[in-house]
Amino acid sequence: MARMESQRIAVLGAGPIGLEAALYAAALQLPCTVFERGRVGENLQRWGHVRLFSPFGMNSTPLGRARIHADQPQHTLPDANAILTGRDHVTAYLEPLALSPALISSIRENTAVLRVGRRGFLKEDYPGDIRRAKEPFRLLLRDDKGKESIEEADVVLDCTGVYGHPRWLGEGGVPAIGEIAARSHIAHGLEDVAGERKAVYADKTTLVIGSGYSAATTVCNLAALADKHPATWVIWLARAPGTQPIRRITNDSLRERDHIAVRANTLATRSDGNVEFHPQTVVEAIETAGPDRGFKVSGHSGGKAVSWDVERVIANVGYTPDTDLYRELQIHECYATLGPMGLAAALLKHGGGDCLTIPSQGPAALRNPEPNFYILGAKSYGRNSNFLLRTGFEQIRDVFTLIMGKLHLDLYKTR
Ligand SMILES: Cc1cc2nc3c(=O)[nH]c(=O)nc-3n(C[C@H](O)[C@H](O)[C@H](O)COP(=O)(O)OP(=O)(O)OC[C@H]3O[C@@H](n4cnc5c(N)ncnc54)[C@H](O)[C@@H]3O)c2cc1C
Repeated sequence: MARMESQRIAVLGAGPIGLEAALYAAALQLPCTVFERGRVGENLQRWGHVRLFSPFGMNSTPLGRARIHADQPQHTLPDANAILTGRDHVTAYLEPLALSPALISSIRENTAVLRVGRRGFLKEDYPGDIRRAKEPFRLLLRDDKGKESIEEADVVLDCTGVYGHPRWLGEGGVPAIGEIAARSHIAHGLEDVAGERKAVYADKTTLVIGSGYSAATTVCNLAALADKHPATWVIWLARAPGTQPIRRITNDSLRERDHIAVRANTLATRSDGNVEFHPQTVVEAIETAGPDRGFKVSGHSGGKAVSWDVERVIANVGYTPDTDLYRELQIHECYATLGPMGLAAALLKHGGGDCLTIPSQGPAALRNPEPNFYILGAKSYGRNSNFLLRTGFEQIRDVFTLIMGKLHLDLYKTR
């Protein structure tokens, strides 16, 4: 293990995991810069109205809480059992952390990382060879005014998440006919349909595609909107068969998660509400004449051709990591999830199931053939949506044992 104490660390992304990694580096007095293309906690801000399903105690660390207590004693942290929205988590925890003297000068907001490579080495040079570590990484950056620049770093922690990279909604993950042209008119992610975006969805027919917790949340919120705006109508499409779109976890200890599953399954099965559910349905073509001009959507449902004219489309079909970022580096990607192979293989061995039961996979699983480049956080799981913040904090503990060359280093344990 290489000892890297004096080396520069670049953290990509100031989400909960990137920020925590910077905090850990600061506690070890390692020089560190965080590059964030938007604001601190940008993705949580985007789904700010959604309640997290894990409690605050699980979404924060002893290190972070101690930092805030020390630097901002007047700030009251939420109760460990509190269930916060994404926005409240940013206000209660991420922003105070980012403002702490230990971090404030190391965070560069509105700075996107476009590409990462190695000075003097191309992708194909010295495969998996430690000699590549002799030269620093080169990061191509772009600020919010479009100005580009290069920064160098010795260690890179890619914590850029996946939320900014939605998948295609067409059958087999291939864009539906017309989807590429219609993409900018389709909503991806978690729209605040009953809040900030109410005027867009009230009394409209919305097609929702997907069968995960994001789709379930969207459908529940649209149904709540329909209580006050009865002409609101939801057509919900899922790829899998079965009348209950969301698979419930037996004895789920995360009540909030179970609550969404139960509510969404109830909406899908009852026939007197404003939601019609279509299992075993795939989209093959989608057309729109432009903003606010509606969509014509066609595909197959249970083997039969179907089509709908709808006013809005929300695609909650999952996310995929931005692998272009490190295309010039030697990253061994899983052919199924696009996560880094070591971790993906360990996760595959564990099998699917509840994310709460997935143990830490240890430092070795975080290594890539490219020395000193690590993918952490939601992105480390690739297309697998089972990631928990708690897992990300364990990854940070593990990765710093590698960076520092200290096998038993654990800043969480000593607090
Ligand atoms: C709706 C929703 C609810 C969730 N609820 C929970 C929950 O209750 N409990 C739980 O444990 N997990 C939950 N998760 C899963 C996961 O913990 C979150 O997705 C969490 O935000 C992941 O943190 P992260 O730091 O890895 O990534 P993100 O929060 O996605 O942060 C990535 C950051 O990188 C920035 N970025 C992206 N690309 C670039 C670039 N090229 N250059 C610079 N910056 C870049 C982004 O702007 C963003 O700030 C939830 C996920 C979603 C979508």
